[in-house]
Amino acid sequence: MAVTINGKETAEDVVSKVKASAADLIDTSGVTPGIAVVIVGEDPASQVYVASKGRKARECGFHSVQHTLPEDTSEYDLVALVESLNADPLIHGILVQLPLPKHIDSGLIIQTISPDKDVDGFHFVNVGKLGTGEIETAFVPCTPAGSMLLLERILGRDLAGLNAVVIGRSNIVGKPMFNLLLAHNATVTIAHSKTRDLAALCRTADILVAAVGRPQMVKADWIKPGATVIDVGINRIPAPEKGEGKTRLVGDVDFAEAATVAGAVTPVPGGVGPMTIAMLMANTLVAAYRSAGKAPPR
Ligand code: NDP
Repeated sequence: MAVTINGKETAEDVVSKVKASAADLIDTSGVTPGIAVVIVGEDPASQVYVASKGRKARECGFHSVQHTLPEDTSEYDLVALVESLNADPLIHGILVQLPLPKHIDSGLIIQTISPDKDVDGFHFVNVGKLGTGEIETAFVPCTPAGSMLLLERILGRDLAGLNAVVIGRSNIVGKPMFNLLLAHNATVTIAHSKTRDLAALCRTADILVAAVGRPQMVKADWIKPGATVIDVGINRIPAPEKGEGKTRLVGDVDFAEAATVAGAVTPVPGGVGPMTIAMLMANTLVAAYRSAGKAPPR
């Protein structure tokens, strides 16, 4: 049976280190890491994510502010808010919760965030740094950064000689994951909806990362025996066994099947999910250290 990679435990470890380093920064520099989370509209899932980010930031000892704007907020007003946060010395990390309402250009908003406060790692400057291997000075998107940390705990930092396949080429997960694996010396292939014979490609992978959004798509016969499988997917499916109308969360990997073949696999929930928010805290801490002119803790 495969080892179940415990993301919850690793995330708690990250958060407790962030908390200690935040306290140290406050003591030695008088700088309290500050994060601003901006949400536009009433999307219930986004509200839950934003509330949990605020809670986690407070748990880390951060200064945390939330800006909740109505659905009909204009693009002009949102740009003005982001610009004011860029100029606010108490704020080191800015996160605009996506998706934004359709009348707002998300790309414009993301590029308005100062690259130094872009703790989501979506600004072109940070994307470019990751793509050119300047990882030490970049902000790396939280979900791939968290996935990479889980991989490191299993396989170490140097992935030389290992074949990795990433399923999914989004800017938020797939592409940054590709770049991180490459930076750690893996030989990486990225697959997507136009890839031919995906199962055969996946079977070549010592490291398989699924970031697709298709419930339980990756089956046992897609997995090389002993491979490390990172399941980024979060999908809600009907769970009639729990009662009428009930649902449950599953990943892009069929966990029960994967566990019979893989060497190690992340569960859903409790795998990559908790890492995302932990890495957001870690990125905010780094932003605060940099703004205080200090080297961020490793
Ligand atoms: P996107 O929808 O942006 O990208 C999905 C990718 O999967 C695309 O590149 C798409 O290909 C590819 N794809 C879709 N169907 C297939 C298929 N049948 N075969 C091969 N490739 C396919 O999703 P995200 O990257 O934003 O998210 C992926 C998953 O990760 C989702 O389940 C999401 O909920 C989850 N997620 C989890 C997070 C966490 O904190 N754990 C954070 C972010 C996302 P193409 O480009 O050709 O269309």
